[in-house]
Amino acid sequence: MGKNQTGYFGEFGGRYSPEILTEALEELESTYQKLKKSKKFQKELTYYLQNYVGRPSPLTFAERLTKHWGGARVWLKREDLNHTGAHKINNAIGQALLARHMGKKRIIAETGAGQHGLATATVGAMFGLETVIYMGAVDVERQNLNAKKIEMLGAKILPVTAGEATLKEATSEAMRDWALNVKTTHYIVGSAIGPHPFPTIVKDFQSVIGKETKTQFKKINKKLPNAIVACVGGGSNAIGMFDGFIKDKQVKIYGAEAGGLGANPGEHSATITYGKTGFLHGTKTLIIQDEFGQIVPAHSVSAGLDYPGVGPEHAYLAKLGRVDYRKVSDEQALESFLEISRVEGIIPALETAHAFYIARSIAKELGKKKDIVICLSGRGDKDVTEVLRLLGEKSK
Ligand SMILES: *Cc1c(COP(=O)(O)O)cnc(C)c1O
Repeated sequence: MGKNQTGYFGEFGGRYSPEILTEALEELESTYQKLKKSKKFQKELTYYLQNYVGRPSPLTFAERLTKHWGGARVWLKREDLNHTGAHKINNAIGQALLARHMGKKRIIAETGAGQHGLATATVGAMFGLETVIYMGAVDVERQNLNAKKIEMLGAKILPVTAGEATLKEATSEAMRDWALNVKTTHYIVGSAIGPHPFPTIVKDFQSVIGKETKTQFKKINKKLPNAIVACVGGGSNAIGMFDGFIKDKQVKIYGAEAGGLGANPGEHSATITYGKTGFLHGTKTLIIQDEFGQIVPAHSVSAGLDYPGVGPEHAYLAKLGRVDYRKVSDEQALESFLEISRVEGIIPALETAHAFYIARSIAKELGKKKDIVICLSGRGDKDVTEVLRLLGEKSK
């Protein structure tokens, strides 16, 4: 375990990964630092974001929802309209470009719900890179459509059967692959987690969300919004949205985490509400663990929030009190999923439905003439079958 002084957010973050990864992480960091300052790289990135992803994504005024909730004016940052239907591709494109610049011809990724696997398989195809996706065997079953799409795009899925056979195990397996194949392979981490420099790289590639939001909002309203809201799994869409506003003290910032079925270990993924400091996947952060420090399997109705850790910067922002993180239960997320579909004509991802749920009470707290922006991290097509199943169960 090597400890590196850079890459900390207060006491959280850092690099706590096996020695075998040190060289790869250092190569990644120095390449990234160079490219970040390169006008040519930034131009290339912008080119793909505009012409392949479809950026900038719109900032939509939600007229009906504003009336329906009866509080602050509601705005939606439409990451659901990106190619592949979520924010994940912002980061996948950026890191695939990094891989190309490092001369690596093979990319690997972990995936839970399959959204990051899908984004990675997509950019792998587009850049002509050999692509391998690690996915828990349970998730391959649960998220079969995404698994099939990943294969259709020419990527290979390696199902992981260890432990709970979900996201945590898939991540561990991807790290193992990377350690063995660093010379040829780049590991595209899918959220603002992992050892330094990943949380910073992922944040930088997702920060386009907050930057665009700020410009778009200011252009229409000649001021800043009063509040911004995003859902938090590993925390990449949230940190991408928050980053542009953290220094604007007058903007209130809220994160929604998965409260699941209840407060007992194993029933939720509310890392910030219930977690304790520990180490997971090479970073120091808040983690859901039992009294012996064993990591407890996470639960959420939305597979994308189902992770027992959280990006270290969120642990730090929570500790500072800069961001107010609130938990939302499976039931409440389901309620918002239906509400947004029916009131606004947008079927949101179940992950995003968590953000909508807290946004409703925040909009009421703020009152009329104030403005709230919600990061609509992804569309909900992938969740329709699961929602129907849950509604069927409830009506029994
Ligand atoms: C993956 C995913 C999330 C959760 O991941 P973060 O890294 O926390 O953003 C949220 N919403 C959607 C639509 C997702 O696909």
